Parts: sequence; C-alpha cells; structure tokens
Amino acid sequence: MKQLYVIGMGPGGADQLTPQARYALEASQVLCGYTTYLDLARDFQDGREIVSTPMTQELERCRLALERAAEGKTTAMICSGDAGVYGMAGPILQMAEDFPEVEIEVIPGVTAALAGAAVLGAPLMHDFAVISLSDLLTPWPVIEKRLDCAGAGDFVLCLYNPMSKKRRDHLRRACDILLKHRSGDTVCGWVKNIGREGQEHRLLTLEELREEQVDMFTTVFIGSQSTREISGRMVTPRGYEAKG
Ligand code: SAH
Repeated sequence: MKQLYVIGMGPGGADQLTPQARYALEASQVLCGYTTYLDLARDFQDGREIVSTPMTQELERCRLALERAAEGKTTAMICSGDAGVYGMAGPILQMAEDFPEVEIEVIPGVTAALAGAAVLGAPLMHDFAVISLSDLLTPWPVIEKRLDCAGAGDFVLCLYNPMSKKRRDHLRRACDILLKHRSGDTVCGWVKNIGREGQEHRLLTLEELREEQVDMFTTVFIGSQSTREISGRMVTPRGYEAKG
C-alpha cells in the first residue's frame, strides 16, 4: 500500500506526542516538513530520508511528500500542533486528487489552543472561537469581520499568528475591535513556546494586551465577559453555579 501520514506532532514536548502519531512516525521511511517542525520529530530522524522545504514552500512540500509516497515509500508529513488546524492536512487532501494511488491518513495532534489553555487554567470551558491574525492567506478585512462577530457573540477568543515581523500592529488592531464589545479589564493571557524550551505565559487585561509585544511563537487568549482570574489562573465559568 502507498501510504502518506499527515501527522499532528503536538505543540513541542515529546510527552505531548500521541501514541498514534508515534506509531505512524515509526512506520515511516521518509519524514517531510518545514525545517523548524522537523525538529519536533528529531527522535525519529535516524535512518530516515528527510525532505525539508522553507516556510513559504507549502505546496511544493505537499507535492514532494505525495511523490515519495507514490514511489512506494511510507511517508510522514510533519505538522506542529494539529495537522488540520492551519496545518497541511487540507492542502495535502486537495492535491491528493492527482495521486489516487496514495492512501492518506490524517493523525490528530494537540493544537496550541488546547495546550496553551491548559497552561493558563481553563479559559475555553465555554464556547470559543479560533482566529488567525495572519493576512497572508486571508484578507485583513475578513479577519476584522470575524473578530467583530466573535466579539458580538461574546466568544472566548484564541488567536493564532498574533504578530509577524512585517505586521506588528495586528494584535493591537484586534484588541481595538474587541474593546467595542467588552471592557478594558477583560481577563486575557498569552502562552509562548508551549511545550518547548523557554515556555512562558502571562495573564493581563485586554487594555494591557493592546500594548503587549508578542511574537509568532505565541498563542493569545481573550476572555469573554464572564472569564475570571482565580488564584492566578484564567477561568471561564461553565455556568454550573447558576444552575443551582
Ligand atoms: N497547526 C498548528 C498551528 C500552526 S499556525 C497547531 O495546531 O497548533 C502557527 C501558530 O500557532 C503560531 O503563530 C502560534 O500562534 C501557534 N502555535 C503553534 N505552536 C505553538 C507553541 N508551541 N506555542 C505557542 N504557540 C504556538
């Protein structure tokens, strides 16, 4: 069988890799991925062919992975977090129409939203929305509209790609939209390098978040109107108290 695994590696820690992902990595002859993410699979690199492409070459990377699998080599496409959350599972499945002989299995991983939430406490106990602030593939006005709708719906927000070198003001602009719907002292938090060396986190208010400098290795959480700080943890009540 010609097999391609699209693997979510989790946020970073070896103990955050699922056993299912581990089995698929062990079964693979070729590891394919963006250089930084391949590092997540360093324990599996010995004796395996490594195919890496730079950050912007996503489609080329997918094609190379599908070609290796079509040659009969069991191949793993490595993604950070979950493969289907801003990962490569989508583009692989789209391109796979040209490779009908390749069997594709998507293997889930712990996405940054869930791993980061656990570091902060329990911010995602109630309805939440995940929005990427990267406008590389989504026009900025669409991102603004989604932020505005999530704000109006009082969703807890989880923001991926909060800042890039080129666009340093995305997070501030996102906070300004949210400030139309919630108060400046709304509980927020960020987690950097989740599960990796140098993991850091901070709880802060929405007003403070507006002034904060974060980077692309950070996931940001904006509380709903009911999110609270309890003993240094960010918690969104599930609502049991009100049920009586
Ligand atoms: N597929 C990945 C997301 C890729 S988009 C996943 O499911 O987690 C890249 C964004 O994800 C980063 O800009 C950051 O906001 C977030 N992210 C991914 N890994 C992270 C980590 N280890 N620590 C903090 N944020 C992370």
